[in-house]
Amino acid sequence: MYDFIIIGGGILGMSTAMQLQRTYPDSRMLLLEKEAAPARHQTGHNSGVIHAGVYYTPGSLKATFCLAGNRATKAFCDQHGIAYEVPGKLLVATNDLEMQRMQALWERTAANGIEREWLNAEQLREREPNIQGLGGIFVPSSGIVNYAEVTAAMAREFINAGGEIRYGASVTALQERQQEVRVQTSAGDFACRFLLTCAGLMADRVVRMLGIDPGFSICPFRGEYFRLPASHNQIVNHLIYPIPDPSMPFLGVHLTRMIDGSVTVGPNAVLAFKREGYRKRDISLADSARMLSNPGILKVLKANLRPGLGELKNSLFKRGYLQQVRKYCPSIQLGDLQPHPAGVRAQAVSDAGQLIDDFLFRHSRRSLHVCNAPSPAATSALPIGAHIVAQLGQQLRELPVFTKTKVAVAEA
Ligand SMILES: Cc1cc2nc3c(=O)[nH]c(=O)nc-3n(C[C@H](O)[C@H](O)[C@H](O)COP(=O)(O)OP(=O)(O)OC[C@H]3O[C@@H](n4cnc5c(N)ncnc54)[C@H](O)[C@@H]3O)c2cc1C
Repeated sequence: MYDFIIIGGGILGMSTAMQLQRTYPDSRMLLLEKEAAPARHQTGHNSGVIHAGVYYTPGSLKATFCLAGNRATKAFCDQHGIAYEVPGKLLVATNDLEMQRMQALWERTAANGIEREWLNAEQLREREPNIQGLGGIFVPSSGIVNYAEVTAAMAREFINAGGEIRYGASVTALQERQQEVRVQTSAGDFACRFLLTCAGLMADRVVRMLGIDPGFSICPFRGEYFRLPASHNQIVNHLIYPIPDPSMPFLGVHLTRMIDGSVTVGPNAVLAFKREGYRKRDISLADSARMLSNPGILKVLKANLRPGLGELKNSLFKRGYLQQVRKYCPSIQLGDLQPHPAGVRAQAVSDAGQLIDDFLFRHSRRSLHVCNAPSPAATSALPIGAHIVAQLGQQLRELPVFTKTKVAVAEA
């Protein structure tokens, strides 16, 4: 019998496991991951940006975790010798409407306490000769890192502190009983006193395995990237972002210098017909049928039909994609857009048909679940893990079998 089982070997599962093992050093913990290694899904297919927290509503979990996560991620990388850089982010306005929106973002960054600098067109040109715009906001604290490396370091910490990890163990069924949670997997059955789940694109399915109606479903959106040729590795000095439409803040391709020195363009946001399908041709009839018969998801798709079709068109026709980046970086040519692996975002949609914007957690007596963890969840993984451990402390107090120092003591 384990004290804790954690499902999911992405950055949130690993961060939580690592911090839980530190908090309850004498307890037995097992992390279950269905893939052969950590970070095979969202965590290993993202832009690698350590976000500063520019867009998020002041006081929201997103804003709070991101601001703390920006500092915590850099400190974790320092402690573990993981390469990261802090080139800063430049938000570029290319027309009058975007200048107005930029003003609103300027105020929001102030409310979030983020250091930033207002640039006029000339200052923008001085900083970024290849970028054109009417003005910009420079945010110095944005960085870049390889989140798969961060996750691997968390896994090592967890194991060194006594935790166990089983890769290739796909959880297929869960049962919560009075004294335990039974966990059935493709690699055998296990039991624990408390279950945590950080299952990303499968978050709703895992919660449903417990017989809990989660009140949301995951809608997968593929984020497609291109990579610029190596001759363009110096095309920009910072991470370049367009000013987003506040009603669609996740749309708008950006130019990102990756930690390996290359520059990517992207991502877009195209409805995916397979939850863990990274190529356009990846289609799961079962996933598609469930998605397209879900009233909440249908409502969201209907309400966002125009931008959705726009993203689809630009995904199918490279020229449309090119136009988006040429708006602020006109020297990029069609032939510069070279293939780069896509990612798939797990976006939770409520049963009522709302895109859930903030982080979302659910719990039962013996379980706690991360249900919605969109970007910037990689940046925020350390504070989210700490938040989960704190939440858990409250839940465990209601279960008499747990004590802070040795979780199993009271039950023995
Ligand atoms: C295109 C894209 C770009 C992004 N860019 C950024 C960025 O620049 N900065 C940032 O901060 N965030 C970014 N994000 C968001 C960030 O990557 C994710 O929010 C974060 O990685 C979520 O981590 P996770 O651990 O919740 O999920 P995942 O990394 O998806 O991990 C979930 C794990 O659970 C496992 N699992 C699922 N079901 C089961 C089961 N039944 N049994 C066993 N294991 C199971 C999966 O195999 C997977 O490994 C981006 C996301 C995408 C998709």
